[in-house]
Amino acid sequence: MIASAETSHRRLTVLGSTGSIGVNTLDVIAQLGGRDAFEIAALTGNANVELLARQAKATGARMAVTADDAHYSSLKDALSGSGVEAASGRSGLDEAGAMESDWVMAAIVGTAGLAPTLAAARRGADIALANKECLVTAGELFVQAVAGGGGRLVPVDSEHSAIFQVLEESQRHAVERIILTASGGPFRTWPRERMADVTAEIARAHPNWSMGLKISIASASMFNKALEMIEAKHLFGVRADQIEVIVHPQSIIHSMVGYSDGSVLAQMGAPDMRTAIGYALAFPRRPSLNVERLDFAKIARLDFEAPDEERFPALRLARLALMRGGMQSAVLNAAEETACNAFVDGRIGFLEMAEITERTMDALSALPPASTMDEVFAADAEARRIAASLIPTA
Ligand code: NDP
Repeated sequence: MIASAETSHRRLTVLGSTGSIGVNTLDVIAQLGGRDAFEIAALTGNANVELLARQAKATGARMAVTADDAHYSSLKDALSGSGVEAASGRSGLDEAGAMESDWVMAAIVGTAGLAPTLAAARRGADIALANKECLVTAGELFVQAVAGGGGRLVPVDSEHSAIFQVLEESQRHAVERIILTASGGPFRTWPRERMADVTAEIARAHPNWSMGLKISIASASMFNKALEMIEAKHLFGVRADQIEVIVHPQSIIHSMVGYSDGSVLAQMGAPDMRTAIGYALAFPRRPSLNVERLDFAKIARLDFEAPDEERFPALRLARLALMRGGMQSAVLNAAEETACNAFVDGRIGFLEMAEITERTMDALSALPPASTMDEVFAADAEARRIAASLIPTA
């Protein structure tokens, strides 16, 4: 059954409910009526079992899943007597994605989010897509899975939500360019030499947004923007040369669409993911949300500057991946995720993340486009193997 946004008591699943997007999603659900308006089918987490159990009991979820089998017994204990079913591991995540629900928030971090989101897409759930890796890794195969299932795909990433909001379907023929805004992260004004020595603790301190560890570091390196460029291509069906990035340090304009008459439409708001989450949950109606309102007199000015691809090579690598095609986007994603983990563990420096990613992309530049998900998973695994071989062992 195709979900309807107007249906009361919609059944919702939140994949990654214990993360930054997941917690904000549960806040939005509570703001929009909580248990009186929605049923929660499944919630999933990984290590934070205590929060997961608390969320599941508070929302009356039917099932709670920890991705890590090692946490199964503590989750089961924490849920004892609550009536919430406990599950774990990849099979548990897949079960959560496949379980009957109308709307699924895809907010697991990394490639681990792909399989359960695909399961939800294939059975026709509406997908609120926060996880970038689904589109970056599986691209057209993911878009086809959603179309085949018959559900809707509504982006949650603030930039793509912004474009989704201002890209008028009737004016699609007149779209000239998509302009993704980027805050520039904590190292926007730093010289390259200084960036070489930063630690994960410094890199994760984003100036405007409060986010999970991986995306905060990817924002500092601008790999997050690189993934967003690839996502934009698949979501909006534009060519790579129609996607621009502009640094906008205040993060007030979340992105823009430029049309053939010279008009540029922008979506603005406070840097708060709950607006994009609420838009995806209530789509096509705008919900009423308790989030900060913009005070333009206080903001006073909006600044813009061109991104520096010397200091932030991630943007060049995204363009390279889009130009080369094949499996380059999946390879970029897997190599960057591997390098990011090594950076967090202190095994490589900040600037080496891009170097390792580029070398891995070069090594796998001949891979043809995937026609099955198995080919996607194989390319992902091979890219991780090559990237890991370029990282010094502890
Ligand atoms: P967090 O790191 O805060 O949360 C990630 C979620 O995934 C948690 O529920 C975590 O569980 C779970 N998780 C971690 N590892 C695994 C695994 N191996 N298998 C299954 N689940 C796992 O991330 P964010 O909420 O920041 O981001 C989630 C996704 O949304 C990412 O893809 C990110 O790029 C995207 N996104 C995030 C934005 C943001 O503002 N945060 C903005 C736009 C997009 P636990 O915490 O229990 O370990």
